[in-house]
Formats: sequence, structure tokens, C-alpha cells
Amino acid sequence: MRPSKYNVDFNIIEITEKEDFRSVSGRSIAYESLRGPNDTLFFTAPCTGGSSWTAINRFKGGAKTNSKIDAHVVLFWELWDSFVIVLKHARKVGCRVLMELPRQCLYWKDPRVLDVLDKFGFSNADFDGCQYNLVAHHGREKGHPICKPWRIAAFNSSLPCYLNKVCCGGHVLRHTRCGGANTKETQCYTPLIVNTIFKSVSADNRKPVGLKHVPAQCMPITSMSDVFAYFCQLDKSWREAVTGSRSMASVPAPPPIPTPTIPPCPGLAYTPQTVFYLDSNALIRTLRGFVAFSSQAGQAKTICMLVQNGFEAATVMRGSEANVNCLFVFCEWTFNWRVHDWCVNTLLAPTPSLYSGSVPFTFRPGASDGGNSAGSSSGSAANSPPLPLKAPPPQ
Ligand SMILES: [Zn+2]
Repeated sequence: MRPSKYNVDFNIIEITEKEDFRSVSGRSIAYESLRGPNDTLFFTAPCTGGSSWTAINRFKGGAKTNSKIDAHVVLFWELWDSFVIVLKHARKVGCRVLMELPRQCLYWKDPRVLDVLDKFGFSNADFDGCQYNLVAHHGREKGHPICKPWRIAAFNSSLPCYLNKVCCGGHVLRHTRCGGANTKETQCYTPLIVNTIFKSVSADNRKPVGLKHVPAQCMPITSMSDVFAYFCQLDKSWREAVTGSRSMASVPAPPPIPTPTIPPCPGLAYTPQTVFYLDSNALIRTLRGFVAFSSQAGQAKTICMLVQNGFEAATVMRGSEANVNCLFVFCEWTFNWRVHDWCVNTLLAPTPSLYSGSVPFTFRPGASDGGNSAGSSSGSAANSPPLPLKAPPPQ
């Protein structure tokens, strides 16, 4: 954070790569510095492993690129673990917490991140760089606005009320790409963004916080260098005790999002244009006479009823072959969520041509497609389910 008129009386303690937020010593700095409602934790992690480009780079790059990306992903989750630990402390003492990543970063969609932000009740401050004076300082399009989308998830903070301008076009100069020599600069906030953040923090600090004891807004009394040195020592001995570091294999995959399960549609056993016939008991039969959907609830019930009424199961399962007088139908399937089952609807189908010839059509076993020389257009005979030996058990 650059110095500004809004942050002169703020004490900014950085935990950089050197202090390493993943370590106990790095975390201890945050722990020691976050004392009460006047303190703010600002967490920002590299998004490299979660950028939308990652998928493309993974696709284009070889093993070397992929292992580089893996390393970034591991780094993010290690930092995230530390963040969650410190976050719990921050909540306990009533601190403000801000977490920043590019808005399109895939980590925002990860269930692990979503879950924590949701449980703590974070709200988002979404804003675009171009709305806060982010312009290119290099290249052909010097001076053009750069539309860098950012998001800061905020806890115990008024930030979303202050930092919320997103681009809706209307610039005199068109946007320029956030790339090349401009990339490094766009990693930093513009003075306007910095001022807006501190304005929000100042406003929050002026607010009365109920009956809670509010420690005076003063500099930390312990020297952070001493704290750091002490914990580094602890870290070192801890590391020696625990061997082996984290690897990609130990980063758990995001938990699967539960999807409602739908049983397979019985209709899939046939082509959509398959013609069936409906017998006098409303059983749907293939042209060869087999019950086509014995597992479907309504059909199974009818089969049961017939068997209970003394019909041979085998006779029920295999009726007579279709003839020109049959009621030919197509089947249409819909899934009914209330009964959680597939329901079949029969639609009148034209009489298949093979039955309308002058020669009565019969299936002859041994013919290539199960039918006689007239040929079977339905194909259903070949797909007929094998004849069960027993009728389904009564329900
Ligand atoms: Zn813009």
C-alpha cells in the first residue's frame, strides 16, 4: 500500500514472501498485530494457479508448465490454510478482514473458498481498474484505460459501500490490454483505490462498537522483528521434527458438488423412432410381442396384477406378435420428480409398412434382423430385452 493522505496514521505491517505467511512465524506476525476492531487484515495471494489462463496454459504447455502451475496451486492452498487460521483469530478479536483476488480468478468459485466466505459472512467489493484511473503507461496505447476486474471480499467492513464502481463503457479512449510492460503495474492499486480503501477503514474505525472494549489505536508495543525472530526459531525446530513438505498430491480435490441422481431412462434401450404396440392390458410390447418396459413402475404393476390373476409369467412377458390390427405407438419419456421415476406416454404411430403389405407379416427366427424378407424398419425386435424367467416380485 502506497502512502496516502488517508493512511498517514496507519501502521502497516507487511508479511511478504520473506516472512512467509504459511509458517508459524509468518502467521504470528498477523496474530500479534490483529488486536481489535481497529485493525485490518488484508490478504492477497497470487492468483497464478487460479487464473482463467491456467486452463489454456495447461493445455498448451508441457509437463514443465503444468508442474509450475501445480506449484502455484499448492502455494495458494498453503496460504489459504494460514488465512483461515488467522481469520478465526480476527473474528474472535473483531478485526476487519479484506481478501483480494482478480475477479475472474477461479479460486472465487472453489467450494472451499466459497464455504469459508459464506460461513463468515463476507460481502464483495467488486470494482474495475479503469473506474479508478488505471491506465497504460507504456506501449502504443499509452494513456488508455485498463479494465482490470478486481474483487475484495470484506468482513466487518464497509468497503463494498465505497469501492464498487464497475465499467459500463463510455471511455473516450478504448480499453487497452492488461499485458506486456503494463502487467507489473496493474498488480498495484492506483492511488484512488488505496485512498478509497483507507477511507472505508477510517469510517469503520470511527463507528461506535457497542459495549466492546476497543483498544486504543496505537502502534504495536512488541517489536515485530523480535516476534519474528523468535518464531523463526520455533519454525526451524518444528520443520526439523516434521519432514516432508506438501505436494500437489496432498492438496485435496475440491469436494464434489452433489447432483441429484436420476435413474437411467428405460426408453434408452430403444431408438427414439422405435414402434411398439399397446395390448389390451395397456402393456407396451415390441413388435415381436415382448413386454418392452417391464421395469417401469406402471408396466411392472400391470404384469404383477396379471400374474396374480393366474396368467403364466412367461405368457405375460411374451405375448403374440404384432399384426395389422394392433394399436401402434411411439413412446415418449418424462422424468417425474415427485415420484422420482420415469413416466411413459404413448403417442399413436402409423402402422409400420411391413404390416400393410398384401402378404401377412410374421417374424421368422433366423432372418438377419429377426423379421421376414419384408424387413423390419423398427429394429425393436433385435433390441428386445431377454425374456425373464419369472415375473417381477409383487410390490
Ligand atoms: Zn472501462
